[in-house]
Amino acid sequence: KGSLNSENTFDNFIEGKSNQLARAAAMQVAENPGGAYNPLFIYGGVGLGKTHLMHAIGNHMLAHKPDARVVYLHSETFVATMVTALQLNAINEFKRYYRSVDALLIDDIQFFAGKERSQEEFFHTFNALLEGGQQIILTSDRYHKEINGLEERLKSRFGWGLSVAVEPPELETRAAILINKAAQSNVDLPGDAAMFIAQRLRSHVRELEGALKKVIIHANFVGRPIDLDLVREALRDLFALHDKLVSVDNIQRTVAEYYKIKMSDMLSKRRNRSVARPRQIAMSLAKELTNHSLPEIGDAFGGRDHTTVLHACKQVKNLRGSSQDLAEDYNNLLRALAT
Ligand code: ADP
Ligand code: MG
Repeated sequence: KGSLNSENTFDNFIEGKSNQLARAAAMQVAENPGGAYNPLFIYGGVGLGKTHLMHAIGNHMLAHKPDARVVYLHSETFVATMVTALQLNAINEFKRYYRSVDALLIDDIQFFAGKERSQEEFFHTFNALLEGGQQIILTSDRYHKEINGLEERLKSRFGWGLSVAVEPPELETRAAILINKAAQSNVDLPGDAAMFIAQRLRSHVRELEGALKKVIIHANFVGRPIDLDLVREALRDLFALHDKLVSVDNIQRTVAEYYKIKMSDMLSKRRNRSVARPRQIAMSLAKELTNHSLPEIGDAFGGRDHTTVLHACKQVKNLRGSSQDLAEDYNNLLRALAT
């Protein structure tokens, strides 16, 4: 029996630029399973809503067709179940079961890496389902072609349908998610308080949820409604911790957000000026604000050479002298990262 989480729906999934493509694709699949988008492959960093979207698809399918067989499982559960089936000499039942579903949802398939027998089983299941017009939905923390330790034939099949990325949510989306989560807990979170938290916590949604919980507990404890001051009090320790951690990751996110480019472009090989320049600025900031060496910084930018980083630092230094716009951008970013 599958274990769909009924709390993760499309209704309570907040849409923003960062996830609207993934959401739209998920909705398409939910409305028309086994159709054109098979498999649906959702990828992106941790805590960005991949699992949520997956459950939302399953729940949507069940709402329209209550007797549909929708099976959700984590890839590690798939592996464990297979191992048990092998031990019990029940591999045929295993096969039959997974091939009889209307939709198979497998989460975090990067865990298949290096597990050859599981990949073999999954390969056959995958083919059978696709042939039968049954829907397959997969998530992963990275693009299928970039999962090391995965057989080529699986990698290529994962790209047969539709692959969509979820990106880190932008500021307004983070604030909207906070307000929505608060409302779900019957808590009134004022807009300025939500924006304040969203501004300070930039990484992923799970962290926002954790912060919101702290705020709610603090509000109950001191018996006051939530406002800016209360948020400051409740999250003082968390923010202090964050302030100490100017990480390369943090710099990349901040710069990507500032220039409205994708976080993934920080690491990509694309050379257009619109992404290459922000990338150089982020490298230069990383050199200035962290203690990392040039090779370490190059590594953090998609495995680039230390000479690339050095070149970026020189380039940015020159540009700050010759372009007022760039100098201003750079100072804005320094300020944003130093607070
Ligand atoms: P992932 O699987 O990508 O690591 P999850 O789907 O587990 O991330 O999301 C982490 C948490 O954040 C979950 O509680 C989820 O409901 C919530 N979440 C993520 N994105 C959104 C969103 N756009 N709207 C509402 N909640 C979200
Ligand atoms: Mg997940």
